Amino acid sequence: MDHQPVRVRMAPSPTGKFHLGNARTALINYLMARQSGGQFILRIEDTDTKRFVQGAEEMLMDVMHWLGLDWDEGPDVGGPYAPYHQTKRKEIYLQYAEKLIEQGDAYYCFCTPQRLALLREEQQKRKEPHHYDGHCRDIPLEEARRRIRDGEKPVIRFKSPREGQTTVHDYSRGDITVENRNIDDYILVKSDGLALYHLAAMVDDHIMGITHVVRGADWLATFPLHVLIYRAFGWQEPVWIHCSLFLKPSGKGKMSKRDAAEMAKDGYSIYIDDLKELGYLPEAVVNWMILMGWSLDDHTEFFTMQDLIKNFSIDRLNPAPSAINFSKLDHFNGLHIRNLSKEKLAGLLKPFFEKEGYKVDMERLTQIAPLIQERMITLDDAVRFAGFFFKEEVLPQPEELAGKNMSIDETRQVLEEVIKRLSDLPDLAHEIAEPVMRSFIEESGYSAGQVFGIMRVAITGQTVSPPLFESMVIIGKETVIKRLQKAIEILKDMAG
Ligand code: GLU
Repeated sequence: MDHQPVRVRMAPSPTGKFHLGNARTALINYLMARQSGGQFILRIEDTDTKRFVQGAEEMLMDVMHWLGLDWDEGPDVGGPYAPYHQTKRKEIYLQYAEKLIEQGDAYYCFCTPQRLALLREEQQKRKEPHHYDGHCRDIPLEEARRRIRDGEKPVIRFKSPREGQTTVHDYSRGDITVENRNIDDYILVKSDGLALYHLAAMVDDHIMGITHVVRGADWLATFPLHVLIYRAFGWQEPVWIHCSLFLKPSGKGKMSKRDAAEMAKDGYSIYIDDLKELGYLPEAVVNWMILMGWSLDDHTEFFTMQDLIKNFSIDRLNPAPSAINFSKLDHFNGLHIRNLSKEKLAGLLKPFFEKEGYKVDMERLTQIAPLIQERMITLDDAVRFAGFFFKEEVLPQPEELAGKNMSIDETRQVLEEVIKRLSDLPDLAHEIAEPVMRSFIEESGYSAGQVFGIMRVAITGQTVSPPLFESMVIIGKETVIKRLQKAIEILKDMAG
């Protein structure tokens, strides 16, 4: 692709949550705009009033911002082609529909829902596709207009050619040829005067000067219709790109709502706002998404948004469907977490601690961040792993306190000795505390695993924790000693 500035758009319908497929389409559009110095437009396709979901528009905007996909024109920021809500552009579509009617490429259809239901039933019986039978195709325009004046409320249908073939071109998929008789006379405008996607999106893409229409492969079925509409108006077609579909992790079939529910049980989701809540970074989601269906070469896998803006190319989009691979998401999240500064990571972790009721001291959290950064997969791992830093008291499990192959009494003696030696130190600076503990280990005859294991459980309340000595510095001498003493109490209670 040359780098002429493109005008591209994301045109979501506010009918539910923003999912992976939406997000990847938005990302590809965004990358094309940014790398060519063009514009990325957000258009809200809200003509399907029956499926409208309150709050969905706000949510999709939040999610796109979170992913870093900012738009240049849209309902909130305005632009030269406002309004950017399709329901506010009703009159525009009607004018264009009228034009198609005038030139014989569309017609009024007065068929009742009852007749259409009957037709569908018969077609089903004959195992035929559900196509409109053209009953109203040849009603003279004068007659149709009279019936409208008399109060009838028709829909407007596209008059698809009955003979011949139509060849359309997708940038990644090449030419696609269909028999025209298989293209239905789709409804362009409903009886309430509101245009449907097929007309509204084509009109808007044309008026808004969209150069590349990048959308989901679920639109391939009606792609020829869309091209016929462009051609009927005599407009220059955009470059069409249909992004590959996502398949279930098993690779068998498309994701269903039920699959999504199953996935949630494993702590995964195909909805972007869920991924945010689950502790995934937008950088990781972006990196992961783009690699399902695109690659730079056969080895580069780490990409920031800036890398992608530089390197992305529609020439390397793979139209084959790709199975969603969540272990890859975990992998990328780890990589991007490790790529953060400790200040940035601490800032991102804060809400996760607060959600669990911890009062967070930012200075302390910034000290903790590098200790846990290496091991985290998701941001909310941090709470489980490092919550003890913010607790007044930890509650070690008595049975976890006893050292490996050691009696309660021996464990208690070790704790007493540890307290004695640490108390003598001015503070717990790592370079001082660790050698002191190592020489104690040597003298005692116990292993480092045994002694550090006991200390870890006593001080953190956990058998797995960030590095012990670094953690002790952050917790502070006074609290460390208090926790060691508390552990002795617990052991005494156990001994009865
Ligand atoms: N409103 C359509 C959808 O949400 C947009 C398709 C397109 O990008 O043209 O599926």
